[in-house]
Parts: sequence; C-alpha cells; structure tokens
Amino acid sequence: MKVTVVGAGSWGVWSALELLAKGVDVQLIDLRGAGNDWSGSGGLSRIIRRVYGADKIYTELTDFSFEKWESLFHQTGDQLYHQTGVLWMQPSDESKYLKDSLELLSKTEYPLEEISVDEAAEKWNKINFTGIHKIYHEPRAGILEANKSCQHALYKFIEDGGSYKLGQVSVKKGQVWLDGKEHLQSEVIIFATGSWTRSLFPDVLDHITAVSRQEVYFYQNTGIDYADIPIWSELDVNGLSFYGFPPYGEMGLKIAYDSRDLEMDPETDPRELTIEIEHRSREYLEHRFRSADHAILQDYRVCHYDNSMDGHFIMDHHPEYQNMIILTGSSGHGFKMGPAIGHLVADHVVDGKDMPGDFRLARFEHGIKKKTQFTE
Ligand SMILES: Cc1cc2nc3c(=O)[nH]c(=O)nc-3n(C[C@H](O)[C@H](O)[C@H](O)COP(=O)(O)OP(=O)(O)OC[C@H]3O[C@@H](n4cnc5c(N)ncnc54)[C@H](O)[C@@H]3O)c2cc1C
Repeated sequence: MKVTVVGAGSWGVWSALELLAKGVDVQLIDLRGAGNDWSGSGGLSRIIRRVYGADKIYTELTDFSFEKWESLFHQTGDQLYHQTGVLWMQPSDESKYLKDSLELLSKTEYPLEEISVDEAAEKWNKINFTGIHKIYHEPRAGILEANKSCQHALYKFIEDGGSYKLGQVSVKKGQVWLDGKEHLQSEVIIFATGSWTRSLFPDVLDHITAVSRQEVYFYQNTGIDYADIPIWSELDVNGLSFYGFPPYGEMGLKIAYDSRDLEMDPETDPRELTIEIEHRSREYLEHRFRSADHAILQDYRVCHYDNSMDGHFIMDHHPEYQNMIILTGSSGHGFKMGPAIGHLVADHVVDGKDMPGDFRLARFEHGIKKKTQFTE
C-alpha cells in the first residue's frame, strides 16, 4: 500500500513513522521542513502532562506517547524530554478541571499531588504565591524539545527507509497536486497540515476550526536564576491561564497567556510582538516571581493554535473524498500526543480499526458549542 502524509509536524511525522513500521510504502511531504519555525510544532519547548480534567482519552493518549517519545530518544541517543514537573495554581478554589484531574489521576500510577500554599512557598521560594488558593503538583510532567523532537522523528523515518521531500501540496476538486504539477495518486493521503488545513478544505472546516495568534516571551534575569522551578500554569475559573517554563538551554524564563481571542492567518499575518501583551506578561512576571523586576526581554515567538470549535481533535475521512484523511484541531495541546495520533492513524489505515468516535466530524452536526479543553 502506498500512503502520502502531508505535513511533518508532530502529527504528520509520527503518522509517517507508524505507517512505515507497519510495512506501508510512505512518502512524507512538507512545505518548510519538520518542526519548522512557522509551524505549530516549531520553537524550543512544549509541555507533556497527564492532567486533562475528566477527558480520560487524552491522559491515555499521553501515556502511550510518553513511551514512544522515550523510545525514540533512546534510539536516536539524544534525550529531548526533561522532567520538571508542573505546578497547577488556582487563584480560586473552583476549578472543576483540576478537581476532575485529581480524581482521574488518583486511579493511575502517577497521581496528582495536592500541596498547601505554605509547603509550596517553602519548596519553590522564587515564586510568590500571593492570591493562590490551591496548588497541585504533577511530578511526571515536563519539557519536550519541540522542533528537535520532530526532526529526530524525521531522521528515524528516513533511516528506516521512508521517503521525504519538500514541496507544496494543493487540492483541487478531489485531486491532490505537488507543487501544482505532479498529480499525487497514493491510495491514502493524510493531511496533517496543522493551521493550514482549513485553507486546503474550506468547505469542510471553515465553520468548525479557527486559527488563533499566540505570543510567547522569553525573559533573562540578571539578578536570580529560576532554573530550579517547575513548569507552572495558573488556571482561573474561565479556563484562561498564564503559564510558563523554567529557563532552558540558552533561553530564559518562558511565559505565555492562553487566550485565543485573536485570529491569525498562519501564512500572511506578520509575526511581530504586541507591545500591550508583552507589558501584561512582564507585569505578571514581576507579580508572580521574586526579584523579577530586572527581567529583560530576551526573545519572543508569535505562533498559532489550530483550534477546533470544541477544543477536541479532529481525525476523520474527508466527507466526499474517502481516500483523504484529515488530522487537525490540535487546539493548543496536541504536540505531546503526536505518537498516539500516528498510531491511531496507522491502525486505521492498515488494520481497519476505527479512529476515536470523539474525534469524528459528525459531532459538529448537532450544533457547535465553543469551548477549549479547559472550559465546560
Ligand atoms: C505557543 C504554543 C504552545 C503550545 N503548547 C503546547 C504544549 O505545551 N503541549 C502540547 O502538547 N501542545 C502544545 N501546543 C500545540 C502543539 O504545538 C500543536 O498542537 C502541534 O504542534 C500541532 O502539530 P501538527 O503536526 O498538527 O501541525 P504543525 O506542526 O503545524 O505541522 C503542519 C505542517 O504542515 C506543513 N504544511 C502546511 N501546509 C502544507 C502544504 N500545503 N503542503 C505541504 N506541507 C504543508 C507545514 O509546513 C507544517 O510543517 C502549543 C502550540 C503553540 C503554538
């Protein structure tokens, strides 16, 4: 069987790897390269965590992916996962998301730990916990080096005999073209094209996906070293959060705000920082971290979430062209689960197993309630 995978971000590169492992003749195509700077999988780091409220499916997909990432890093000889833990901080004691996570994870090998504010303040004394009412610690969570992890998966794919090329894929009336001239005729074509997928299939995705602009800032601080703090997320009742990472490699403290209000065209919109958003991040930094008043903006990154309207992934056949499979709607939390997505796709294409019902397009036929993974 010959399969083409379009897109070498976390979802595409792992789909290609998993199909290849099942003996499929796979070609992988990307416009700008695996984990490139423009893609959702680009940049330095992503969180891998098991906290997912009551959405058990994502905890399970993450558990599966954890093992696959570790096995890949073992094989390529470069450890790109770093266990830092995640601190989940609540400014009120109302987060159903965290309450559900506590319950769900308590039944697993790696439970979520509830710790008191006093205990946290003693342990992580560079963080100012003023205004925080509840804290959970997720020890088995950490950093995946994002672009490098995609590149390593690609190297493995090529080493194992997969075919990879750069090029732009387009779709016209059910026909798929490479660079506008080569007609792609694989039995199955998988589109793992992230935020660009809606422009390839506007009829299917226009009303059920949206691309949001996300700004990420890195700060260096001349006065203090934050390297020993965990990743943190401050989740309010509306599901909005500031979150961030300890300094890593040459980069300082990383901070982002998880609002999804601003739409973005990933191809044409400028990627300059927004002064007001940077000021808001700096204000937060100075409030939440001790001695952060000398922090200097070191770098920034403007990227995008490929959101589905309900915050859940989309994995399904094109409603009209059954040989095409669409993987999209990773909604700001899909990087870590690339290996599991790839595995589900390969099981479906090769062994005929169903992809998860929760991720089918049909769910949008019964009305659309706009939400994210953090909101009800
Ligand atoms: C700021 C930020 C923070 C995030 N934090 C986390 C996190 O902590 N944990 C987590 O798990 N996830 C996180 N995510 C989400 C995660 O990064 C994405 O869900 C994931 O990387 C999406 O992968 P993808 O393979 O679907 O898409 P992408 O990585 O965008 O890959 C799509 C690929 O398709 C290629 N392509 C597009 N169109 C074409 C075409 N016509 N022809 C050929 N190639 C094409 C592109 O070049 C690109 O390489 C975050 C995302 C952002 C932006």
